[in-house]
Amino acid sequence: MDSSKKKQCRLVVFPLPFQGHINPMLQLASILHSRGFLISVVHTRYNSPNPSNYPHFSFHPISDALSESPHSAPDPVRIIKLINASCVLPFRRCLEGLVSEGDVKCFISDANWYFTHSVAAALGLPRIVKRTSSVGAFLAFAALSRLRDEGYLSLLDGDSKMEEAVEEVPPLKVKDMPVIEMYNAEDAYNNIAKMVEETKKASAIIFNTFQELEQPEIGRLNQQLESPNFTIPFHKCFSAASSSLLAQDMSSISWLDEQPPKSVLYVSFGSVVAMDGARLLEVAWGLANSGSRFLWAVRPGLVHGSEWLEMLPSGFSEATSGRGIIIKWAPQQEVLSHPSVGGFWTHCGWNSTLESICEGVPMICSPFFGDQFVNARYVSDVWRVGLNLHKALERGGNENAIRKLMVERDGEEMRKKAMLLKEKIDAGLKMGGSTNRALDELIGFISSL
Ligand code: UDP
Repeated sequence: MDSSKKKQCRLVVFPLPFQGHINPMLQLASILHSRGFLISVVHTRYNSPNPSNYPHFSFHPISDALSESPHSAPDPVRIIKLINASCVLPFRRCLEGLVSEGDVKCFISDANWYFTHSVAAALGLPRIVKRTSSVGAFLAFAALSRLRDEGYLSLLDGDSKMEEAVEEVPPLKVKDMPVIEMYNAEDAYNNIAKMVEETKKASAIIFNTFQELEQPEIGRLNQQLESPNFTIPFHKCFSAASSSLLAQDMSSISWLDEQPPKSVLYVSFGSVVAMDGARLLEVAWGLANSGSRFLWAVRPGLVHGSEWLEMLPSGFSEATSGRGIIIKWAPQQEVLSHPSVGGFWTHCGWNSTLESICEGVPMICSPFFGDQFVNARYVSDVWRVGLNLHKALERGGNENAIRKLMVERDGEEMRKKAMLLKEKIDAGLKMGGSTNRALDELIGFISSL
């Protein structure tokens, strides 16, 4: 297709209104725009992206059943269920309006908008699904219903069956399966089952990952799906900075500039996780007792019942003075690529995991819910670029893990493995590399629709 013809084609994208979903969707949209497509973004008013950061896109807000102000500690399960029910009509009207203008080539939906398949099908519009998780996590989600039927998912911590391997998704154990126990389990399973079912009906699926990282998983996915899939690490092809819902504290970069190479542990548990005060104390004392330098992003609302730092233990500032700073929200990609950063203590949200791998930064994994357990298992047992604390978050364990990662030989080995993965991702971005090819194939696929 020549570029003048391509310019006339419009793609409609529909991100799920969470930071970890908005970033990759707007990165993907930006990549496709740079390849000549016009972009229309349909979005909820809840957690609305800022249109002025994307003057080259058109934005189309639709009503939802949620409050207009961003939630500091949202319950994603409830929200996903609610918006899938409440957005059907406004979304259909909006899409019909865009289609009637005549130039829409296809529609790209977040996988969690499971109601959209039938809307697009009724309009005869091809629907591509953008999946925010890894391929391995998608396979785990797809395996959940069997485990649930066999009663495995109601096992309690400590039951020996929790250590059993799940046959269809090696190397995962039962305890790694994405059970969302902190939220309404019944709704969580229903959301997941519908997401898997409706994703399988898509014309194609785009995963935010790269081929060299998940070769065996991509092979297994291809056995389960008929539609094509494309693996593209979006943020390496386009930066996320302008889709941040919270203001990024850039003073953290000047602070990092003053620190020795690879000396700083970056700590963040993402945009959704919330913890109780006791858990915050264990993180704080782990940092204080480890003696390590750190940059800690404490999102307002991270701790239940607390505005920001009120629950930090007394004596913490004195114990860490001169070697650590706390901010509200970091420019995470810049932080991870900064030469002073030597490790990342993370909840293992998929964006954070991928961003860390892509910069060669080893991790301490403290997963909280959902696919975070899956990602943590891959980080520690498959890619071997981090330590998996699983659910444990005790003071002694935390400080030992920090020392192991930041100053001991184990951490050095993980750093070397992470650097090898970074080299692979960088090679994939070059002409003829795997990511470069996947992108060309995706453009070819969309153009052929
Ligand atoms: N992020 C950020 N600043 C922070 C913490 C996170 O910009 O202080 C970004 C991070 O780069 C990532 C996203 O927020 O792109 C979080 O997504 P992830 O999938 O890791 O976790 P979630 O927030 O969905 O649990």
